[in-house]
Amino acid sequence: MRVKHPIIPAQWGCSDFLEGYPEMALEPTGSGGIRLSGLFRFSASCPREGTTITDQFQIAIEVPRVFPREIPVVFETGGRIPRSPEFHVNADGSLCLGSPVRLLTIAATHPTLLGFVDQALVSFLFSVSKSLNTGRHFPFGELSHGTQGALADYRDLIGLKTAKQAKLAIRALSHRKRIANKHPCPCGCGMRLGRCGLRHRLNPLRKAASRSWFLKEIQRISLSTKQEAAGGIQEKAIGNNGPRPRFLCSQ
Ligand SMILES: [Zn+2]
Repeated sequence: MRVKHPIIPAQWGCSDFLEGYPEMALEPTGSGGIRLSGLFRFSASCPREGTTITDQFQIAIEVPRVFPREIPVVFETGGRIPRSPEFHVNADGSLCLGSPVRLLTIAATHPTLLGFVDQALVSFLFSVSKSLNTGRHFPFGELSHGTQGALADYRDLIGLKTAKQAKLAIRALSHRKRIANKHPCPCGCGMRLGRCGLRHRLNPLRKAASRSWFLKEIQRISLSTKQEAAGGIQEKAIGNNGPRPRFLCSQ
């Protein structure tokens, strides 16, 4: 039920968000989080393509109480975006804004509502809008679902070349820094991680999620790698949008 005059929480820069998106309204949720819903107007440009898109969508953003440790769930409520994997809409109607690790990293680096929507949502809607207007597929890099897509996203986030290096890096993230630094560096430089510049690139991910989160991640990835190798999993041939901050075009 909508509350007429909700108290705007000071956290997450809520009032800045409502100033930036005045047609969105705030309502508290029972779980201690908030829900922001209404008309989301945006204007965004892709410097490389030289295109600017101004558009609007009916959006609902559910912000969990523990944001930025957990990521908001975003729904498009106006029915403009086809409910299909091709448009990165999940079965429950939520938008597939990117891989969990990428979204958590964005939330940790930009722990305000404005920061999160600018980095994760606007680039997504830019792509959708362009796709709807041109009838073409998403203009930005898309990751395939499944292990390969997940590892590709890690490679991209950390700046590594191979899936094997990405797995070693996730393993390192599941260890305490002190311990991980003593192990051989995932980048294959031959040094200990503690002596390689790679360790600095792992820090934003360490801020984004816990060691146990990365432990689950590596266990999940190892398991599905085995299942994929055994042919037990039907790999979805659909893409998972990997929105690049600031609308970088596909690399
Ligand atoms: Zn290294």
